[in-house]
Amino acid sequence: MSVRLSTEVLVIGAGPAGASAAYWAAKSGRMVVLLEKDVIPRDKVCGDALTPKAVGHLNDMQIDVTKSAFHQHHGLKMTADGQSIELRWPTDHDHPSHGLVIRRRSLDEILVEHAKEAGAQVWTGVEVTDPVVEHGHLRGCRASGTGSGTGPDGEIEVRARFVVIADGPLSPFGRALGTARTRQYAQGVAMRGYFPSPQHSEKMIESVFDLRDSSGQQLPGYGWVFPLGDGTVNTGVGLLSHHHGNDPRSIQDLFDEWLLQIPKFWDVDIENIESEPQGGRLPMGASVRPRSGPNWVVVGDAAGSVNPFNGDGIEPALNNGKLAASVIDNAIDTGDGLALRQYEKELASKYDHYYRLGRLATKALGRPGLMRRFTRLGIQSRVLTELVMRISTNLVNNDAGGTESVYEIGKVVARLIPDRD
Ligand SMILES: Cc1cc2nc3c(=O)[nH]c(=O)nc-3n(C[C@H](O)[C@H](O)[C@H](O)COP(=O)(O)OP(=O)(O)OC[C@H]3O[C@@H](n4cnc5c(N)ncnc54)[C@H](O)[C@@H]3O)c2cc1C
Repeated sequence: MSVRLSTEVLVIGAGPAGASAAYWAAKSGRMVVLLEKDVIPRDKVCGDALTPKAVGHLNDMQIDVTKSAFHQHHGLKMTADGQSIELRWPTDHDHPSHGLVIRRRSLDEILVEHAKEAGAQVWTGVEVTDPVVEHGHLRGCRASGTGSGTGPDGEIEVRARFVVIADGPLSPFGRALGTARTRQYAQGVAMRGYFPSPQHSEKMIESVFDLRDSSGQQLPGYGWVFPLGDGTVNTGVGLLSHHHGNDPRSIQDLFDEWLLQIPKFWDVDIENIESEPQGGRLPMGASVRPRSGPNWVVVGDAAGSVNPFNGDGIEPALNNGKLAASVIDNAIDTGDGLALRQYEKELASKYDHYYRLGRLATKALGRPGLMRRFTRLGIQSRVLTELVMRISTNLVNNDAGGTESVYEIGKVVARLIPDRD
C-alpha cells in the first residue's frame, strides 16, 4: 500500500526530544505527524535518571509524575576514593527539588501518549528512509511502514511545512541534510544493565568516580546505581570516548569490571542480570551543526545536546523539543521565513557557554592523572562536591551561596580558551 499525506509539522523520532516537540506543537494547535520506527512501548538503552530540571519539563507538560512508574529521588551520593558525600537536590531554584528514575520503556510511552492526547498523529513501526528535497528545499520524507505499530504497512510519503529531526544519536535523517558532529569534541559511551536489589526503593541515586583501566589509571567517567522502585536498579558505566574510542568491547570490559565494584550497599548479585547489558553513544556539548535550516530544526541527541558534565540527555531533549515547537509555531503565525533562526539563537544564549565550559572540563579530565587528582580533592570537600553537583546538573540559578559567581567566572575563562585542538 502507498500512503501520502500532508501536515504542518513532521517530527521524526519519538524519543523524549521528538515526543516533546510533537506535544508542544500539537498543544499550540498545529497539525502534527510523528513517525517512529520502533513499536512503542520498547526498551531504550539509558540510565533512566531524570534530574530535577527534567522533572520541571514533565510538570510543564502536565504529566502526572506521581504515577507508580516514577520513582522519586531526593539527592545524589557521590563516591570516590573509598569515601562518599550525600547531597540533596538544591531547593533554592525554580525547579522541583526531586529527580525521578523511570524505565525508558515507560517514560517514552507516557510521552508519546501525551503527544497523542494533545492531538498529534503518531505512527509507530514506520521507519523514515529519505528526505524529500525539491529545488534544494526540504519538503518532507519517505518512510516504510511495517504495519506492526500504529502506522500503516508499506510505502509512505509525508509532506510538511516544517520538519523536526529527533532521530537520536546517529541521526541518519540529519546527516542526509548535511548535519555533522565536530569530532574534536568528546563523545560519551555508556552501558547499562538491570538487577534485582533489596535497596530498589532507596531515595538517593549514586555515582562512583573510581573507574580504572587495566593499568590502574583513573578514567574520565563514572559508574552509577539508580534505584527504580520496582524491585530493581539500573546500573552502568559511562566514559568520555577520547580514552577508549568507540570500541564497544572496551565499554563492555569496563562494564564487566564495574559489576565487581558496585557498592555493597545495593546488594546486587551480578549473576541475576535481567537481560543482556546494552550500550550506546552520547553525542554531547552541542557538537552537531547546523542545528537548523530554512524549514527544519534538529533536537536532542541528533543535535549533540547531551550535557557534557554528566551525560544527562533527557532534560536537553525535552527542552530542545519545546523550543523547536515554539519557533515553528511562531514561523507559521508570522509567515516569517527567517523565524527558525531564533532556534539557534536561543540555544546559543541559554546553553552555549555552559556547554563550552563542559567541553573544556571533559577535555581537561581526559588528561592522564587529572581525573584522579580532581576526585581526590573533591570528595574531601562538601563545598566543592556541591559545586560540582550544581554545575553538572545545571542547577546554578538563583544560588545566593557563591556558587553562581564561581560558575560565572568559569564561563568567562571558558570563553577565552580555544576548545578545539
Ligand atoms: C547507557 C546510557 C545511559 C544513559 N543514561 C541517561 C540518564 O540516566 N539520564 C539522561 O538524562 N540521559 C541518559 N542517557 C542519554 C539519553 O538516553 C539520551 O540523551 C536521550 O535518549 C535523547 O533523546 P532523543 O529523543 O534525542 O533520542 P532517542 O531517545 O535516541 O530517540 C530517538 C528516536 O528516534 C527513532 N528513530 C531513529 N531513526 C529513525 C528513523 N529513521 N525513522 C523513525 N524513527 C527513527 C528511534 O527509534 C528513537 O525512538 C544515557 C544514554 C546511554 C547510551
